[in-house]
Amino acid sequence: MKKKKAKKRLLELIEKLQKNFPVSDNVYLCMKRMRKYNGRAIYDGNGKYIIYVNPCLGIEHQLDIIQHEWAHIRVMDEMVHDLHGSTWGKELAKIYTSFCHNFRKVVK
Ligand SMILES: [Zn+2]
Repeated sequence: MKKKKAKKRLLELIEKLQKNFPVSDNVYLCMKRMRKYNGRAIYDGNGKYIIYVNPCLGIEHQLDIIQHEWAHIRVMDEMVHDLHGSTWGKELAKIYTSFCHNFRKVVK
């Protein structure tokens, strides 16, 4: 897949997530190679979430990572400390189910 088209799919996913699984602040996507991670979500403390994604991965993997990180942001928003725990897992399950239905079916 061409780079431009892949980036478009990533941005479309973020748009759909913002609409269907809103979070308190703006979310920015940053393609960045990291030593230990393929993806990360951070809050910059200044009204901005940033999702980092490894640009070397395939598009499907990148789409997975964004959903994974979005679930982290939803949990962070609730001020719950639950890295890969059940709160996060339930959130990811809702997001992934909706993603599989192209967001026509949104699970609350
Ligand atoms: Zn994680």
